[in-house]
Amino acid sequence: MESANRPHAKHQPRLIAWEVTKKCPLNCMHCRASAADKEFSGEFTTKECFKLLDNVASFAKPIMILTGGEPMARPDIFDIAQYGTRLGLRMVMAPCGLLMDRENTAKMKESGIERISLSIDGADSVTHDSFRQVPGAFESVVKAAEIAKECGLEFQINTTVTKLNYRQIGEMLQLAIDLGAVSYHPFLLVPTGRGSDLAEYEIDPDEYESLLTWIYEKSMGAPIQMKPTCAPHYYRIFRQKEKEAGRKVTFETHGLSAMTKGCMGGQGFAFISNTGRAQICGFLEEEAGDLRKENYNFKKIWDTSELYLKMRDLDNYNGRCGICEYRRVCGGCRARAFASTGNYLDEEPYCVYQPLRKADKTAK
Ligand code: SF4
Ligand code: SF4
Repeated sequence: MESANRPHAKHQPRLIAWEVTKKCPLNCMHCRASAADKEFSGEFTTKECFKLLDNVASFAKPIMILTGGEPMARPDIFDIAQYGTRLGLRMVMAPCGLLMDRENTAKMKESGIERISLSIDGADSVTHDSFRQVPGAFESVVKAAEIAKECGLEFQINTTVTKLNYRQIGEMLQLAIDLGAVSYHPFLLVPTGRGSDLAEYEIDPDEYESLLTWIYEKSMGAPIQMKPTCAPHYYRIFRQKEKEAGRKVTFETHGLSAMTKGCMGGQGFAFISNTGRAQICGFLEEEAGDLRKENYNFKKIWDTSELYLKMRDLDNYNGRCGICEYRRVCGGCRARAFASTGNYLDEEPYCVYQPLRKADKTAK
């Protein structure tokens, strides 16, 4: 059993989403950041950004996702990306697409950005634009994908799945393929931030199960990678299905899918807010530490924060997730648990699975 009191060598940050600004020209319905088209006080200066990158690179080589808001709303964004690249970090970016043109796409590439993600939340402009709350948003994100393709910049398409668009998922996958994306990532809605107003549009647990099963089946023959994100029990379904088919899941046979787990929050993934709050992810606002107070020492927070240590102690999760035989490949969504009960250690409310072991600690 993993100790909750000591940092574990296997818990290295592999992916850090860094909200470099909350400023954004869009006003999306589901926005985790509740971003807006205005200046936000207390955001990191360029020098502070460099200090953080220095610290991260001193102990790990994660992929740094420059996100927002709209990261390109920062005038120094390419200096930040280039600084990280020179430190040996893999820099990627999540722009909204509206500000992308050939000139700044070339700058992205020059600064070492290896991949961008673009969000498409509807297979047509009516669905996408109503979600993004900006007329013309669909057209602009399609154009951004075309520019990325022309400039040779790798891109993935993300979709936040809700009741408003989940029946279009096949069409959105096809659109991603047609646009030339390397990967399609359906994100399951987490009803926090501005997304809490969308709780009624969250698909229900049975729909969730059917959707993830459909994604598993589709991913078998899809010409691009499909990676359900913030849908931890996809990895339980994936293993169940492979077992039913008599296939053992190993790196040799299944590549990265055999290594990836559902929720990596606090275990291989972290989120850093625009003002330097370290969190497990952008959807759970609990603070693991304040980078300014810790002199930009992310390593210290990563190794010692009580929140991160609790996330790694899977046996002490409550309810079904704490006894589930799939907890090490799934773990349930901690943010969804928090949104549902106020306790991030509680069981994932959107999973229908009943673990084999009887729930002797569900009343915890
Ligand atoms: S807690 Fe939920 S939203 Fe956050 S990283 Fe884990 S699965 Fe994703
Ligand atoms: S019970 Fe929890 S750990 Fe088990 S599959 Fe469901 S969400 Fe994952």
